Amino acid sequence: MRLITCEYDRKQRLGIVEGEVVKLLSLDEQFPNDMLELIRDGSEQISSASAASEDSVLLTEVELLAPIPRPLKNIICLGLNYADHARESFAARGREVVLPEHMVVFTKAPTTVIGPYAEIQIDPSFSVQVDWEVELAFIIGRGGRNISVEAALQHVFGYTVINDVSARDVQNQHKQFFLGKSMDTSCPMGPWIVTADEIKDPQVLDLRTWVNGELKQDSNTRKHIFDVARTISILSKGMTLEPGDVISTGTPAGVGFARTPAEFLQPGDVVECEVEGIGRLRNGVI
Ligand code: MG
Repeated sequence: MRLITCEYDRKQRLGIVEGEVVKLLSLDEQFPNDMLELIRDGSEQISSASAASEDSVLLTEVELLAPIPRPLKNIICLGLNYADHARESFAARGREVVLPEHMVVFTKAPTTVIGPYAEIQIDPSFSVQVDWEVELAFIIGRGGRNISVEAALQHVFGYTVINDVSARDVQNQHKQFFLGKSMDTSCPMGPWIVTADEIKDPQVLDLRTWVNGELKQDSNTRKHIFDVARTISILSKGMTLEPGDVISTGTPAGVGFARTPAEFLQPGDVVECEVEGIGRLRNGVI
């Protein structure tokens, strides 16, 4: 199932995308009215909320928002989770290449999230080195702590695409990633959540980025250093994961700052990020 949050008829609605059609879920208060509530309530509620609704509209008639427009907590992100990206990052900073033995984890503020086709806004007084990062992200369905690798994928509600837009100058200046990763509009998300039953293996998905139609990143999630199951197991070791938590699995090689010469997003650019079997984000830069 492809689950969306959208705006239709000036209301925020949940819907299921079937081809070019959206089945909007019932607005009746007995049903969940936002994605976080729906994730907490579980999938039985999705079918009853769908059955209780008469509203079918064309996908082109709704405005897609991020599937979770305002996550409850910061988005948990992995850094340097593809060996090729780890190598290019160390090389671009003139450092010796050391692949992480332990997972690199940072977060993005919930206020970074924008829709799959919304604009990325650059404020040059904040950053002049705004960069792209296509990533497979997943959303926790059933929460837990101390989750084993074997049981981990049963805790995934679904998958989506994130562009972990990064202000490199700020990221480097402050040592900790948080500020450079938390610029407003720096987390395009969507276009929908594909439920976990449709992604049998999250470790075989192609992912790509284009800037103004030019291919910049082209890789596959089989190159993850820490795969989705291990990520859940490691993160939940001392920290409770909860329904609706968004976890992004890192980006492959081909980011702007590591290119020769370095490239950064400029007003007027269009950046597209795609993960196979999920969909494509398309965001203009202003
Ligand atoms: Mg990233």
